[in-house]
Amino acid sequence: MTGERFDVAIVGAGVVGCAVARELSRYALRTILIEARSDLGDGASKGNSAVLSTGADTPFGTLECRLVARGHQRYLAEAPGLGLPVELVGSLTVAWNAAEAERLAAIEAETVAAGFHSGRMVGPAEIYRRVPQLAPGAVCAIWEPEEGIVDPFSTPYAYARDALANGVEVRSACPVERAERRDGLWQLQMPQGAIEAAVVVNCAGLHGARVEALAGYADFAMRPRRGQFLVYDKSARPLLDVVLKPVPSPTYRGILMTPTIFGNVLVGPTAEDIDDIDDWRVTRESLDLLKAAALRLLPGLAAHEITATYCGIRPGTDRPEYRIIPRLDERWLTVGGIRSTGLSGSLGIAEHVAGIVVGEMAPAARKPAVVPVRVPSLAFGAPRPWMRDGDVDAAYREIVCHCEGITCGEIRDALAAPLPPCSLKALKRRTRAMFGRCQGFHCGARVQAMFDAAAAARGR
Ligand SMILES: Cc1cc2nc3c(=O)[nH]c(=O)nc-3n(C[C@H](O)[C@H](O)[C@H](O)COP(=O)(O)OP(=O)(O)OC[C@H]3O[C@@H](n4cnc5c(N)ncnc54)[C@H](O)[C@@H]3O)c2cc1C
Repeated sequence: MTGERFDVAIVGAGVVGCAVARELSRYALRTILIEARSDLGDGASKGNSAVLSTGADTPFGTLECRLVARGHQRYLAEAPGLGLPVELVGSLTVAWNAAEAERLAAIEAETVAAGFHSGRMVGPAEIYRRVPQLAPGAVCAIWEPEEGIVDPFSTPYAYARDALANGVEVRSACPVERAERRDGLWQLQMPQGAIEAAVVVNCAGLHGARVEALAGYADFAMRPRRGQFLVYDKSARPLLDVVLKPVPSPTYRGILMTPTIFGNVLVGPTAEDIDDIDDWRVTRESLDLLKAAALRLLPGLAAHEITATYCGIRPGTDRPEYRIIPRLDERWLTVGGIRSTGLSGSLGIAEHVAGIVVGEMAPAARKPAVVPVRVPSLAFGAPRPWMRDGDVDAAYREIVCHCEGITCGEIRDALAAPLPPCSLKALKRRTRAMFGRCQGFHCGARVQAMFDAAAAARGR
């Protein structure tokens, strides 16, 4: 690796870095995407609510609002081509008393004034038609039909696969440890060696301020905010077919209840300011709080099991906004503080960042053609290989993970695909094997054996 020279080095392969890599792959640039962990999407991007926001719930007039709105538009247009599932289930932001109804009316007026016209106020009849099992007492709600649910794990993977197919080099298990500017180029030092890059794009998420400090910048400090979640069994999914939201406060959007693209019901997140960016604990108190909130809103959930819990950490900073800072002279572009909307905004952020890189830091022509890439859809009910007509490979008829219905052939394919999973958790994210109600109790040993065999074969 030592001495290799690139036009652009992107540090961090979360959903934002992967989207930026895909965007820059459309230009005649030598680009590298560098990730510290063994798998991409293994930071803030692995633990979120997976709601595709329209931007109407972001602070109006900000860069975040503009980029999330653009990201939403592009995601709807481009996800199908990448094989990524989207379900436009819509959301209901529900007021439960007169004070909340008044606040909601003000929010609706502000939303329309900001140019978002798809949402509208609805009364109890429509609320209970959409969620018949909702607890009694809802006064009114904003119905937003354009909000959707997506696959948070396959999104960075699909972007990175697309970037790779279109010429970007992708290196994982490669933490950038030093950044020095010498003779007009950045020297980035990793344990495996050093590279040179004309432009650096810092997409290091929770570690954004640390990577900034390597280059001598100190424009912001991290203020990580943990969010914990409960996952209800697929049996609960008929209870909820829309994203349910409380009336937000200025600093916290509150606890959502949402169907997931994988066929579960998700409750969360909490909002806990923490000191340690690596504090990924779930706690009894928060889970109890989430469960109580869930049962208050949807009492029927009491008959269904919670099959998993997890948490995510929002890469917030000391400023309540995206920190996209172009340093044109030094050709260092910071893409930090992408706190709560990075999945929805990813393609908008990527377009904005590529505009700065190509427009002002490393001018380059657009490539004449794009190599298309599709990843397998992991959505519940999506067509699966064993459903194909004609002679189907026997490996697609052998189920390994019975909870999620994942076959031996699908796990084999994920292990053999470009950017193969380098850990069991990464394999789970690529296939959903072990993500079901037994959480791998029954299939774990088999999946581990398949993973070990593939890793050994790669090592040969
Ligand atoms: C609880 C919660 C709920 C959320 N809900 C939603 C939602 O419903 N919809 C939505 O749109 N967004 C949501 N988000 C926000 C979204 O998840 C984040 O905005 C997004 O994941 C941020 O992505 P990122 O790429 O900036 O950061 P990350 O995913 O953290 O990626 C940064 C990457 O940089 C790597 N890195 C760090 N240091 C180095 C180094 N020195 N060298 C190389 N690599 C390095 C890290 O390993 C990591 O992989 C939510 C977030 C949370 C926490």
